[in-house]
Amino acid sequence: MSISSKIDALPPLREIVAQHGLQANKAFGQNYLFDLNLTQKIARLAGDLSGHNVFEIGPGPGGLTRALLTETSAAKIIAVEKDGRFITALHPLIDVSDNRLELIEGDALKIDLTLLAPAPRAVVANLPYNVGTELLISWLHQPNEFSQFVLMFQKEVAQRIVAKQNTKEYGRLAVLVQNLCTAEIVLTVPPSAFTPAPKVTSSVIRIRPKADTGNVPIKALEKITAAAFGQRRKMLRQSMKAWLPQLEEMGIDPQKRAEDLSVGDFLRVAQLTE
Ligand code: SAM
Repeated sequence: MSISSKIDALPPLREIVAQHGLQANKAFGQNYLFDLNLTQKIARLAGDLSGHNVFEIGPGPGGLTRALLTETSAAKIIAVEKDGRFITALHPLIDVSDNRLELIEGDALKIDLTLLAPAPRAVVANLPYNVGTELLISWLHQPNEFSQFVLMFQKEVAQRIVAKQNTKEYGRLAVLVQNLCTAEIVLTVPPSAFTPAPKVTSSVIRIRPKADTGNVPIKALEKITAAAFGQRRKMLRQSMKAWLPQLEEMGIDPQKRAEDLSVGDFLRVAQLTE
């Protein structure tokens, strides 16, 4: 029997939620996807995952997890879930997964994914909104450990990630991500697709680390962008006063504002600071 047939024979997701009393808990950012056509589409957006160890953060009742098993040829899917209520509910899926699904109960913020399974690695997840950006930034500290990230965020966060210079969305996230990776919004998902429906629209974003990120001093870049965009309305001579020598060396007018600097300008300031 194929894995798809075995998964099709499992109870539907809504039934699993009802059976196990898995009412959504806001504190855990729980908004479930029950539409398997949609979760399959998200899984396919990752492209060819053959041989990959794929991490899913927050499998919940398992809609995206099912799709990762049927739609990708990932070697292993390692699902990390903080809410212990889901662990029992996901056991039947483990049983039909031909040893491809592993479940870890824990807080993804406290787990170094690279210690769980070797490269090639990818992350595909409908992230809990409250910790989504924090998780992404933590993975960016070792970008070349992952071949790609396919992540569902609030639409506004996704727009901040792909934002261009001189727009109101442009800020710390854009500078950090775009210096290390290419990023594109690949799908927009309305609130009605989730149970319970959140107030906002969501977007799936595909992020692929660039080949050589060794010359990107991420810690310095974080410090500089936090200062610069923490006072985004101020001129650089105020918001970036600790880096005036570097700005001068680069010939940048200190009367400009943070959003006038390109992603590459911030990288250069960070490199000159190292
Ligand atoms: N993947 C499921 C889906 O698409 O239906 C659920 C997605 S829901 C937006 C986010 C999931 O992340 C929930 O299952 C929640 O319990 C889990 N979660 C929240 N914070 C977490 C954390 N720090 N580490 C791991 N999982 C977490």
